[in-house]
Amino acid sequence: MIIVITGPQSSGKGTQAEILQKEYGFKHISTGDILREEVKADTLEGREADSYMKKGLLVPYDLNNTILKKALDKYKDKTILLDGYPRTLPQVEHLMKIAEVKCVIYINISDEVAVQRACNRRICTATNKIYILDKLTPQDYETCKLAGGEIVQRTDDNPKTIKARLKIYHEQTSPCLSYLEKHKIPVFKINGERPIDAISADVKQELKKIKLI
Ligand code: AMP
Repeated sequence: MIIVITGPQSSGKGTQAEILQKEYGFKHISTGDILREEVKADTLEGREADSYMKKGLLVPYDLNNTILKKALDKYKDKTILLDGYPRTLPQVEHLMKIAEVKCVIYINISDEVAVQRACNRRICTATNKIYILDKLTPQDYETCKLAGGEIVQRTDDNPKTIKARLKIYHEQTSPCLSYLEKHKIPVFKINGERPIDAISADVKQELKKIKLI
């Protein structure tokens, strides 16, 4: 069973998915995180994906479907919070064929806020935890170091690449929402330009309405 979590870059999907994973035992799967792991491990797939990711482009579908299948098979007994997939109409069609999509949590922010947040975002290379540059503490650096990582800026979190990613988001990912709605999948639209707790409260309210929590 799948809950899709979607929205523009830096809308806070990962943060909300982590909250739901912690509180309800769902499994958060981010295709971006999986691909970054492949890049880090310098696998064949990772090397191929890296050249696309650096430019803010989507990696080829086949590569992604392999990675997706592996992740979905591994956690088939859990409710999965799928983050970063589907991003195109062929991907959403594929997903609807192979899995039961229960609903979509759609966290929306403006492009302006997306660019600003992404430039201010840092990531721990060991845990993939996201940090906000202005709010980083010495403790955060220490925690990441203890996990064996470093706090860095993603290579695709620069204004030029974020704009390219947003363009793809509007042209190719947004249409997936209409597709899902047409196929009677509930899409919960949530304003992501608010504090984390307020967004989380809305997400939980919607999931309660359809008895997923
Ligand atoms: P994200 O962490 O979701 O922002 O994803 C980072 C990058 O990984 C994207 O810009 C793409 O290059 C790649 N990626 C992640 N998910 C997908 C997907 N479903 N299809 C194609 N490329 C993807």
